[in-house]
Amino acid sequence: MSDALIAEKREDMIAAARAAMDTAYAPYSGFHVGAALLFDDGAIVTGANFENASYGLSLCAETVACASASHSGRRTGLLAVAVLGGMGGAVEAAISPCGRCRQVVNELAALGGTDPLVLCVGADEIVEMRLSVLLPNAFGPKDLSSLRPNV
Ligand SMILES: [Zn+2]
Repeated sequence: MSDALIAEKREDMIAAARAAMDTAYAPYSGFHVGAALLFDDGAIVTGANFENASYGLSLCAETVACASASHSGRRTGLLAVAVLGGMGGAVEAAISPCGRCRQVVNELAALGGTDPLVLCVGADEIVEMRLSVLLPNAFGPKDLSSLRPNV
């Protein structure tokens, strides 16, 4: 059922990621990125990169999307993630989430017990893989379950 929803929403996700990319704040790298998260009720939550003059504090599109989802109360049911980007917003090669974003997406996915499909969207190809392939043996909430208070 979730695979059918991903297939049904696939183009919507990509269009949403592309629209999100247009809101990127990337004056330092010039590399604009958009991300779209698909949830099991069909909702799509997006994010774009938000750079910082310190460089190191810049936020990636996937991280912004996850924070936005959490802020709106969506912490379960993450089925898929679409990401795309390029210099000046020109999408060429398929890009995949950076290591930090893989960990951030893993946190959101783990809260709902899902292994989301990640769509890395390029101009001529879409590379798809499960998060568990991008981030094998992930560290997550389960590893701290005996230590953390109720959330
Ligand atoms: Zn990232």
